[in-house]
Amino acid sequence: MIHPGTRVQSTPDRGLGVFATEFLPQGTILWAQDPLDSVYEAREWEVLPSSLRAVADTYCWVDALGRRVLCWDHGRHVNHACDPNTLTSPWGFEVALRDIEPGEEITDDYGLFNILEPLDCACGAPRCRGRIGPAGAKDMVEDWDHRLAASLPQVARVAQPLREVISREILEEVERRARGSGPWPSVACRLRPT
Ligand SMILES: [Zn+2]
Repeated sequence: MIHPGTRVQSTPDRGLGVFATEFLPQGTILWAQDPLDSVYEAREWEVLPSSLRAVADTYCWVDALGRRVLCWDHGRHVNHACDPNTLTSPWGFEVALRDIEPGEEITDDYGLFNILEPLDCACGAPRCRGRIGPAGAKDMVEDWDHRLAASLPQVARVAQPLREVISREILEEVERRARGSGPWPSVACRLRPT
């Protein structure tokens, strides 16, 4: 489920995107998997009609177990950026890496989505990687962990409208680590083993 303070709208050059409708401080949980999201094991996916797979593949991400996850709401329209303002946490929810202003596009790094086909990127960021895919993900882990370590302590300090779709055990673990400023597990656990 995507944060209620967002909406989908057109972007100048990348089709639809998700934009903040309110101020979203660093540490805000912007998306979390919930029971309405559809999860497909490989064998379930392969028996779907090819026309459905072709459409749904655009919106699916792949978890560390190789299952496709299809978001039911407009969270599926979040675009990739190589310098994103949101990132997958070690627990799977997406967290704001910095303060996000109303009207700003929410972006994420697809490098943590285990995408099966490399994606060419021209996001314009000075740190644009040019091609996003499984091959380069491991090289990014140190940078992702560094950025998350600066943001995760804020999770316990800001309002979290998505709190009720995240398990109490996960929130308690995050808050316990936040009080001690970590240590934070590596987000490498979200990558599919190769
Ligand atoms: Zn890029």
